[in-house]
Formats: sequence, structure tokens, C-alpha cells
Amino acid sequence: MLTESRAPQFDLNNVHKHLELKGYEDPFLLVDTDILRHNASRFMAAMPRVQPHFAVKSNPDNRVLSCLNDEGVKFEIASKTELDALLSMDIAAKDIFYSNPVKSRRYLQHAADMGIEWYVIDSAEELEKVIAVKPDAKLYLRIYTTNEGSGYALSSKFGAHSKDIDCIVKLAAERQADLAGVTFHVGSQCTNVNNWRVGIQAARKVFDQMIAAGLKPRLLNLGGGYPVELGEPVPSINEIGAVINHELAAFPDSVEIIAEPGRFMVADAGYFVSQVVGKTFREGKPWLYIDAGFYGGLIELKDGLGYQMLTDKTGDLVSTTVAGPTCDSIDVCVESQALPCDIDEHDFLYIKNAGAYSSACASEFNGFPIPGVVII
Ligand SMILES: *Cc1c(COP(=O)(O)O)cnc(C)c1O
Repeated sequence: MLTESRAPQFDLNNVHKHLELKGYEDPFLLVDTDILRHNASRFMAAMPRVQPHFAVKSNPDNRVLSCLNDEGVKFEIASKTELDALLSMDIAAKDIFYSNPVKSRRYLQHAADMGIEWYVIDSAEELEKVIAVKPDAKLYLRIYTTNEGSGYALSSKFGAHSKDIDCIVKLAAERQADLAGVTFHVGSQCTNVNNWRVGIQAARKVFDQMIAAGLKPRLLNLGGGYPVELGEPVPSINEIGAVINHELAAFPDSVEIIAEPGRFMVADAGYFVSQVVGKTFREGKPWLYIDAGFYGGLIELKDGLGYQMLTDKTGDLVSTTVAGPTCDSIDVCVESQALPCDIDEHDFLYIKNAGAYSSACASEFNGFPIPGVVII
């Protein structure tokens, strides 16, 4: 078992080798499965009690899923398409968690027909909906928790607050629904280790509430949010694991503990490769237009997380605006990126640690292709 907490670095030479061998036509995401495997074992070594369920949405490429499956990682889904992809790989339905807090009745019916056992809820209405479709569903309750210090806050959209938790627990007991666990999400790219402590302690209280109501809670789902180094240093998986492991002592061994890492598993296993299609100066400031942008897989560049961009040029660094190829004004990736002054048409831009939420989020808007995933 590999136990070091630092990720192996994706070697840019491997990107160069691939380009020499295969040439270049359209932007793509290069994924190194050795790093994927390494991330899976680092996660499990840091938290021996915690079974990871990969968040399929972060990178649904079937070779990524298959590689993680081989490493003993299981999965969480949000939709029918994600579910069907896993089932077509012969992944057991009992190991797939349906973690989207609000699901259509049609998708629920499909999941129930396919044998999915575990479903998240975060409202009384969703509880009623799930048990109407599948009376024996095992349910876990998503609770609100602080997302302070996360790159992307998710707690504004989902998660039951304490008053609603009281009602949902009561309703589950009345309906004899199997409300069997608690989950929370600290926010994506969470660099505040304390968020896990707060979430687990809150979950412990909800467990007690459930037990008092006659329910049988036996699942704690720690959600996602484990960060990857983009610009600033982030807490290592071992530092986060130490906090989590300590808090888990409040739960007896009979409680099943899972987590739903997306970004952590796949981000640093991917290099996004794009090419400059045009350069100009607007009021003296350099602008680069590349062949992928906001719509073409680089949606997260806009959010100031500090993604690193590398080039093969070595000129002095100047503040440069990097824009995508479409005719929409939203398609500006970064307004001020330090890039070599001699970068020009035909040069490549390599975006580091871009394996998550890149190709997965791309659309064909304006006729530009969705970037392919290339596996090495
Ligand atoms: C998106 C999501 C995740 C994964 O989040 P990361 O920040 O990529 O780890 C996990 N669980 C749920 C319910 C999600 O919606």
C-alpha cells in the first residue's frame, strides 16, 4: 500500500511525448491512470475506515471509472446516464449511492428498477417522493454545514437546517421509512479542515436524534470537497484524514463510513492541452485566443482558483488575457495571467491539475468540439 500523502506530479514531458507521437488537432484532456491509482490508495491509506465513492460528475470517462473501480473505489451518481454507465461496467447496484438531493420521479423509478438501494434526501417532500417510488429505500439525510473556505460553496443550494431536520426525522419515523444515515458536503476544493470536524459533529447529533425517534442510523457519508493544489498550497489528505479519523471515534464500528471525493481523485491526474489560435493587443494589452474556453472544458478557470498554465516559451512574463474561441463575451478564461511575452499562434497552453470538472463540463456551443479524454 502506498502511503505518502503528496501526489506524484504529472510530468509535462509525458504531454510533450504524446504530442510528438500523435500530433495535435483539437484540445484534449490527458489523463495518467498511474496517478489516479495513486490517489485512490492515498485516500484510503489516510482514512482506513472510509470507503471512497467517486463522484462520477467530476470526470465520467469510462476508462477513469474503470481504473478507479479496479482500485476498490465505489461510486456516487446524480443522474440516469451516470447510473447506466456504471451498470454497463457491471458495477453492483448495491454499491452505488444516489446522492443528488432532488431527483425526478422518472429517474428514481429507473434507479429503483435497477436495484439501487441508497438515496439521499434533504427535505420532507423528497422523502415522500422516494418512498412513494421505493418504500424500502435506505435513505440518508443531507444536512446543512458550513462551507467557509471552500472554492465552491454548495450549502446554499442543498442541506436541511435544524428545524427541517426535526420534521424530516419525525416524518420518517411516522412513515416507517428507513432513514438510515446522514451526509453533508463541505464545499468543493475545501481548504478549511475544520469544516469536516463541524460536519461530523453535527452528523453525530442528528444520529442521536434519529435513534431517539426509533430510527436505525448506520451510515455516515462525509461527502466530497477534498482539495487539490491549484494555486495556493492546500491541506494534504493526511492532514484532513487525521481530523476525520479523530472525529469518527464518536461512531461505533457498526456504522458504515463512506466519502464522495471527485476532484481529489482525478484533478492532478489530468493535463488539459489547448492551442493558441490567435494573438492580438487591445489598448496595448496582450490577448490570447485559445481553442478551448468557458464552454470547451475550461469553465473553472474563471473562478480564480489559480489554475497553473504552462507554455513552452521562455520570454519575460507579461499580464495577458486568455479567451476561448466562441463569440460569447462570457468566454474569457482569465483576465490577467502572467504568460511569456513571446507566446503566439500555434503555441500550446498546458493547464495543470485540470482532470476534474473540465471535459466533464464542456458543451459544443458555437460548433467547437467537446475535448476528448486521452489516457496514458
Ligand atoms: C459534486 C459532489 C461531490 C464531489 O465533490 P468534490 O468537491 O469534487 O470532491 C460529492 N458529493 C456530492 C453529493 C456532490 O454533489
